[in-house]
Amino acid sequence: MAGCYIHIPFCAQKCSYCDFHFSTDHSYQDEMVNALCRELELRAHDWKSEVFETIYFGGGTPSVLTEEQLNRIIQQVRRFYAVSETVEITLECNPDDCSPEQLQRWKELGVTRLSMGIQSFDEEQLRWMNRSHTAAESRSAVVNAKRTGFDELSLDLIYGLPNLTLEDWKNQIREIVTLNPEHISAYCLTVEDKTALSKWVAEGKIAISNVDQQSEQFELLVSELKQAGYEQYEISNFARNEHYSKHNTSYWKGMKYLGIGPSAHGYNLKERYWNKANNRVYLSELRKGNLPETMEVLSEQDRFNELVMIGLRTKWGVSKSELFATVQPEAEWFQIVKGYEQGKMLVETADSFVLTEAGRLLADAIASDLFIITNS
Ligand code: SF4
Repeated sequence: MAGCYIHIPFCAQKCSYCDFHFSTDHSYQDEMVNALCRELELRAHDWKSEVFETIYFGGGTPSVLTEEQLNRIIQQVRRFYAVSETVEITLECNPDDCSPEQLQRWKELGVTRLSMGIQSFDEEQLRWMNRSHTAAESRSAVVNAKRTGFDELSLDLIYGLPNLTLEDWKNQIREIVTLNPEHISAYCLTVEDKTALSKWVAEGKIAISNVDQQSEQFELLVSELKQAGYEQYEISNFARNEHYSKHNTSYWKGMKYLGIGPSAHGYNLKERYWNKANNRVYLSELRKGNLPETMEVLSEQDRFNELVMIGLRTKWGVSKSELFATVQPEAEWFQIVKGYEQGKMLVETADSFVLTEAGRLLADAIASDLFIITNS
């Protein structure tokens, strides 16, 4: 069982906070699609024994692909890989790309799930973020997606924005709930290098919210969504009636995934590779028939730490059998676990270690305390 991630490195415009890999020059988009298809072909041999349960188009903005380009990539996956009959095909999309006609075409191509970047319902905040859409476009995109029959719909929001009051944030959460999506993801704004936001902060033009404000907004998010019937199954991800993202859940459960496209990562339980995050270099290497990748072999200790880091973020926690199959920790490690149990941050069940609601607020700090670090 495996997942396939395909990175589409193009966006309509650059959002002020974003450091993902993409270009706003679409002149070579078709050439990029050919290169993605070539990479799928080149990697197929190593993934022959896998059945793909999920295909995820991320980016960038995959909704900028034409119908023909998207179809070409899906057909290439089907041609070279074994794809499950119940495959989840997710497309990340921006609301301004979601016309009723476009939604219908995606449906016909077999897309089963949309992940829509709403980010905010406040027009001023949207402009500040340099998003390419308005709040009105978001609302009608959701209505149209539902009309088209997309019953797996995920909406993204961002909190921690400058001047976002708790009251504003509550209104944003309540508005997203009224749209009734099956899935909501909410991320805290972070200041990344080489973004317009980092420049504004460095110039003192903007003061981003402090950690206390961010925590307050996060706690409000968790309680409001809980009341509305959403289950927090990962720190930043909430679902109704178990409409979890199958693709992301497979990452969090430490399963294999193939990564295609510039900057994409892949993982086969033993090795991890990542492709060059440069469109021109990616294209030129693929033209020569080379994979533009860097690879590392993961040690048992790396795998242990990774299972802790990702597993603790989820409601399923870290599987003890998987964890201890990598490294058997020393007694001191179990003492640290006990300390968190006594502090009501963590629970040990028969099969796993799971964070409590209080522990989830400190997930990253707890995970790094539980990493195994040996001096080599
Ligand atoms: S649309 Fe998404 S990937 Fe593109 S710049 Fe904005 S946040 Fe980044």
